[in-house]
Amino acid sequence: MALSTPASFLGRLLATSLFVGCACGVITSPLFGNAEAAAPAAAGDGHNSGALDLLLAGNRRFFKGRMLHPDQTIGRREDLAKGQQPFAIILTCSDSRVAPEVYFDQGLGDIFVIRTAGNVIDDHVIGSIEYAVEHLKASLLLVVGHERCGAVAAAVAGGHADGHIGSIVESIAPAVKATEGRSGDHVDNTVAKHARMTADALRASDPILAAAVKAGHLTVLAARYDLDTGRVELLKDNDQVESAAAPEDEAKAAPAAGAHPDPHAAAPAAAHAVPAPAEHTPAAGH
Ligand SMILES: [Zn+2]
Repeated sequence: MALSTPASFLGRLLATSLFVGCACGVITSPLFGNAEAAAPAAAGDGHNSGALDLLLAGNRRFFKGRMLHPDQTIGRREDLAKGQQPFAIILTCSDSRVAPEVYFDQGLGDIFVIRTAGNVIDDHVIGSIEYAVEHLKASLLLVVGHERCGAVAAAVAGGHADGHIGSIVESIAPAVKATEGRSGDHVDNTVAKHARMTADALRASDPILAAAVKAGHLTVLAARYDLDTGRVELLKDNDQVESAAAPEDEAKAAPAAGAHPDPHAAAPAAAHAVPAPAEHTPAAGH
């Protein structure tokens, strides 16, 4: 990986008052807010909220079949050869159906992605996230579980797993146990719980991530991707998906074809209320 922290971006970051360090409380923001149409915010507005809005706006384009495929030109590739400034970190499953660059309609250099079966974490994963936070200054980390995750289903089924697959199942086991006896589908409940527990563990991870969260430089959120609809929805403290506001008319919300807003410079003003500090569930099993 090429280290890249352009001075201009660093300066902008340092001049930016980040809106929240921990967003594990109830999220009052409009999930599918009109990020593209929002006027660029003045310096000092939230960086993280702009990143979240860009992701959710891209996901809206995806599940509506109106992708823009931004940042995939030769020019973009050539610009990125000089360095990268991904605006968000995505930890998600290796499942071939859940590629975040696709379901968030992003391009080269936009998101820093780590994928493991069942979006489990270990030292390598945490180190990768730390790198993106420390050196690339990404300020949003989204842990995205997904519907009918095979790794989660294996963990719920229990029994012996061959080879190193057992270590994946073991990492998901605390979420399996935590959702036993709940109404609804055990696999789907575990997907949500596991994503939330993983986000909690990362939020509390010493020394780098916990410090970044405490300093307001990093927001960690959990989400669920729906295989049937293509939709990504944030998870609340009770593991339920955040009810989404009615999506705006895409014709109004979408930028001109090929355009891609600068997430580092254009955090939408007042798009997200500051979530109330909330209790963290203990980091579990990771
Ligand atoms: Zn999966």
